[in-house]
Amino acid sequence: MMEYPKPTVLIVDDARENIKILAGLLADDEIRVIFAVSGQAALDKVEREPVDLILLDVVMPDMDGYEVCRRLKADHRFRDIPVIFVTGRDSGEDEELGLSLGAIDYITKPFRSSVVRIRVQNHLNLRRLQQTLERLAITDPLTGVGNRRYFLDHIRLAQQRSEQNGASFTLIMLDLDHFKLINDGFGHDVGDTALMEIAHYCRVRLRPSDLFCRYGGEEFVVLLPDTGLHEGKIIAEQLLHGIGALEIAAQDLALHLTASFGVAQIEPGESYSSVLIRADQALYRAKQYGRNRVESDPDEKNN
Ligand code: GH3
Ligand code: MG
Ligand code: MG
Repeated sequence: MMEYPKPTVLIVDDARENIKILAGLLADDEIRVIFAVSGQAALDKVEREPVDLILLDVVMPDMDGYEVCRRLKADHRFRDIPVIFVTGRDSGEDEELGLSLGAIDYITKPFRSSVVRIRVQNHLNLRRLQQTLERLAITDPLTGVGNRRYFLDHIRLAQQRSEQNGASFTLIMLDLDHFKLINDGFGHDVGDTALMEIAHYCRVRLRPSDLFCRYGGEEFVVLLPDTGLHEGKIIAEQLLHGIGALEIAAQDLALHLTASFGVAQIEPGESYSSVLIRADQALYRAKQYGRNRVESDPDEKNN
């Protein structure tokens, strides 16, 4: 299981005395506390560093806590950070307003220290659980790389970017050759090991900005941002040679595998599913022409 860093709680209050009290009851080995003395300072803080929970005062000069909450909830980057109001405004209407703005909890002063501490801990636990589930939903459990869902989310975004500002990308689909023979000859565990090692090889071989995901079974996909077809084919060739050179330890043997590749660059106005289909068709041709090779759509014979 992945280790998480200590969660960070941001305390927002224009009265330093209040910050001191809250920080005193929260900061310990388990929680890191940071603070801001105005609404704007709080918004600047979340821009600059990851925050896991916000304790937010309501009455502050310039920008009040309700407005801070409104702005956080309107920004998809910060929407999921739980906000707890801590305030002297104890009317039912105030509480209703705070919660309706998306706050997860509303604590009125005077508060009982132990209750604040427990509520904060409960919400941090829930947030961690939510993050774990979100991570699981987008990760392929065998190889640890992104799964098909994760990939489709990203190619959609990349397609939107290409429509909005012309940012292009190239797609590589790769499928291991005669992989069924590995399973049949050496067992499913050996097949699993081969998938893990090949995925790991590709992940470290590619640039950090390239998105490498498991598309299904023994098929993987790479999204190369700001990359043209020709460069994409060169990268596919490098992966082809790298995978071919891997020695996968199985029982007493060192197995060698190959893969076939299909490459396609998104065209202006093209849908993401269309470029996926073209990469897949190129991959199909690579299989037809004998496997262990790179084909592209359109065919780029002169390069
Ligand atoms: P081709 O060169 O035409 O791609 O042949 P192939 O044998 O690789 O293709 P085919 O689609 O016939 O077989 C794919 C195999 O991949 C069959 C399936 O059992 C295996 N496979 C898919 N997912 C996994 C997995 O997670 N672990 C293991 N061990 N095998 C898997
Ligand atoms: Mg295959
Ligand atoms: Mg396949």
